[in-house]
Amino acid sequence: MASTKIEWTESTWNPVTGCTKISSGCKYCYAETMTRRLQAMGQEKYKNGFETTIHPEVLDEPYNWKKPKMIFVNSMSDLFHKDVPVKFIQKIFRVMKENPHHVFQILTKRADVLLYYDKEGWLDWTHNIWMGVTVESSNVSKRIDLLKQTGAKVKFLSCEPLLTAIPDMNLKAIDWVIVGGESGRTPRPIKEEWVIDIKEQCKKQDVAFYFKQWGGTNKKKNGRLLEGKRYDAMPELETVLF
Ligand code: SF4
Repeated sequence: MASTKIEWTESTWNPVTGCTKISSGCKYCYAETMTRRLQAMGQEKYKNGFETTIHPEVLDEPYNWKKPKMIFVNSMSDLFHKDVPVKFIQKIFRVMKENPHHVFQILTKRADVLLYYDKEGWLDWTHNIWMGVTVESSNVSKRIDLLKQTGAKVKFLSCEPLLTAIPDMNLKAIDWVIVGGESGRTPRPIKEEWVIDIKEQCKKQDVAFYFKQWGGTNKKKNGRLLEGKRYDAMPELETVLF
């Protein structure tokens, strides 16, 4: 388990590393930049660079973490990448099921693969598995409908890096929406009106709203206040765990 600066989780667990780009949100992929750095530092786990690689040796790690944690699964990859064998995904699901004291958060851009595996009955959903899809722009909002059709008990959206307005989302059966702007050396701009619109959609449809960051070249300075206020609602653990 590694601690993380990602605001909406506590730790990361990476049984898979590496990926390939699939949509505009991937342009400045943080996982790729970090992987190249770790590879250059000679870290064994990243010797294949950004090539999709499974790591069976870390599968059992959550059994050793006694204190309940919120864990982002595969912050350095996309679990539903075509090169991740279904049997390996099922092993990850078994570990999550057998560690109900933790919450496991999975995020994918490959919502079509997720739904296909789900329809085949290959995924065993438990209440401590939160399943999310990235919706960085309106032209990938169909991922929301694909996620809704799965049997995941807790469903969420990550609208980060937010690149366009995303009006008229139907958030029925969605528990949580995270919004954030892009950071880094050449971030694409986010507009306040897009964020406010998503916040209002969440309010109207009774969905927890979390504003992660404005991003930009100085993300610390730009902070995470929206209209002077922090928004860090999350799905209620009492409701989702029992
Ligand atoms: S899907 Fe995620 S991990 Fe994969 S390239 Fe895109 S941003 Fe990076």
